[in-house]
Amino acid sequence: MSTPATRTWHEPSLAEVDPEIARLIDEEERREADTLRIIASENYVSRAVLEASASVLTNKYSEGYAGKRYYEGQQSIDPIEQLACSRMAALFGMEHVNVQPYSGSPANLAVYFALLSPGDTVMGLGLASGGHLTHGHAVSITGKYFKSVPYGLRASDARIDLDQVRALAKEHRPKLIFCGTTAYPRTIDFAAFGEIAREVGAVLAADISHISGLVVAGVHPSPAGIADVVTTTTHKTLRGPRGGVVMCKQSLAAAIDKAVFPGLQGGPHNHTTAAIAVAAHEAARPSFKVYAQAIVDNAKALAEGLSARGFDLVTGGTDNHLILIDLTKKGVTGKVAAKALDRAGIVGNYNAIPNDPRKPFDPSGLRIGTPAVTSRGMGLAEMAKLAAWMDEVVQAPGDDARIARIAGEVKELCAGFPAPGLRV
Ligand SMILES: *Cc1c(COP(=O)(O)O)cnc(C)c1O
Repeated sequence: MSTPATRTWHEPSLAEVDPEIARLIDEEERREADTLRIIASENYVSRAVLEASASVLTNKYSEGYAGKRYYEGQQSIDPIEQLACSRMAALFGMEHVNVQPYSGSPANLAVYFALLSPGDTVMGLGLASGGHLTHGHAVSITGKYFKSVPYGLRASDARIDLDQVRALAKEHRPKLIFCGTTAYPRTIDFAAFGEIAREVGAVLAADISHISGLVVAGVHPSPAGIADVVTTTTHKTLRGPRGGVVMCKQSLAAAIDKAVFPGLQGGPHNHTTAAIAVAAHEAARPSFKVYAQAIVDNAKALAEGLSARGFDLVTGGTDNHLILIDLTKKGVTGKVAAKALDRAGIVGNYNAIPNDPRKPFDPSGLRIGTPAVTSRGMGLAEMAKLAAWMDEVVQAPGDDARIARIAGEVKELCAGFPAPGLRV
């Protein structure tokens, strides 16, 4: 067998063929090297994941599933997809895995298509409370084609209001309940959701997109054995390629597979499938547990540093990788703060806070997270610096000299922590 290392190119490079795109990719790599990326849903994949993503597998059509394809030439593809599925099943303790969804949103759509008919009732955490668009939001197809009954947070402590979930579930008898969040800094009580779903005969889907890396490492409880269906993106804390996965009990496997293909999609993205297999392999190593624990330790340290500087944190802190900041008392909007921080090389995103009086395009909050900075090996000392810089920027978002100084300091810090997957 030949090995890729013995092969050489006979064609011009990207930089030669398309210097414009090559330069933009180069600039993005530079940006990812020189900035503190604290968007809670982002990360750095390893070089190994990157290599699989950028492989010739992108050339191949493979409609169907391993052993039942509609095209020939699957000698490598079938074992790759089988490895991705078996590794993910072992990692998450789930009976059946489908790795073909193109991303997290299509993975969730497959759940609806497999288990519901148009007009059926679905419950999910409201978008304004930290839920995802695909959990039944009005602008999403999931809110247009299905009857959506959103639940929310307790006014007293901004935690998911499980009493309300139960009351609404008993009143509306949903076929499907989604639990899972995009901007919620606390642990999800899967067991409580499981009880409620059983009481009303609903299917429980746990969307662990943000926290799947924490779940496999055991630093967040797992929905395995509780939820009927588990969906996740593969590119957030799990540190894989951009992709989506649906996992389920064996009894739902045929319906889920049929919904993904031929229900919603054509050919799977085999380069992504291979990269998911690599990411699952990496996440099964002991070092990944250390990584996931460090994500949470860093988030807690950053939360403490920010609290000590007068930042108002939704729920007062964090249990996971994510912090939601209410900037109201700082006298600055989420958008102004996010844009000033970006100029300082600290890249997060503006975000609504629970019951935000402001509009989603310029809300009162900032959402930040530690998965990417932790992938660079940063720790508690760096989180202390980050909190201090964030405070300086938010205090004077228009002070260009100060922001330029901080951007330089950030770049210098970043140089000491080379990121996975980037050329140095
Ligand atoms: C990120 C996310 C998704 C969607 O993933 P995309 O890949 O952006 O489509 C779905 N659900 C939750 C909870 C998420 O955090």
